[in-house]
Amino acid sequence: MKELVLASSNPHKIEEIYAILKTLDYKILSMKAVGLEDMEIIEDGDTFEANSLIKAKTVYEATKMPAIGDDSGLMVDYLGGEPGVFSARYSGEDKNYQANNEKLLRNLDGVPKEKRSAKFVTVITLMFSPEDIVVARGEVHGYISETLKGDNGFGYDPLFVVPEKNKTFAELSSEEKNQISHRANALIKLQAMLKERG
Ligand code: IMP
Repeated sequence: MKELVLASSNPHKIEEIYAILKTLDYKILSMKAVGLEDMEIIEDGDTFEANSLIKAKTVYEATKMPAIGDDSGLMVDYLGGEPGVFSARYSGEDKNYQANNEKLLRNLDGVPKEKRSAKFVTVITLMFSPEDIVVARGEVHGYISETLKGDNGFGYDPLFVVPEKNKTFAELSSEEKNQISHRANALIKLQAMLKERG
């Protein structure tokens, strides 16, 4: 079985990526499993692509094993794509979800529904070697609610409405969210690309 190291210490992501890639002949290792639990990766890229590459490359260089990096965030059209790569620290370095949501609502105060369109984006980079890199981008489109709704999920989930369901991500079960999320879409693309490689 081929082994991949996931450049994340988030057990949630490891679980999700494992679930999608288990149909292929890959075993996903955590950073802890390869002795990198204390490694800090500086994500200073301008795009999701750049940051996911930084993560994959840092772990590849440390282990010389194929490595997966991922980066996600929310892009709001009215705000010119903000918070984008700053999604986690939109309101400050303490990465507070509630303060981020409050700031987003303030910045969209009085903006009508038809101008509140937004998307979540995930980019996953798999580096087999510096010359052999696979990149998959997943998106999900929706709009920003005027109030917080729902208790599930994390981050901007209580504000992100999926039009087809007329519910926020936080009002969906994790199974429902994981079928349509930006992360799921990126992983499904990655799975197809890996299948093609054999
Ligand atoms: P990460 O790169 O996956 O760690 O995501 C960066 C930030 O984007 C998170 O801290 C959240 O603020 C936001 N984000 C990414 N994915 C989601 C999601 O599925 N729901 C809500 N917020 C998300």
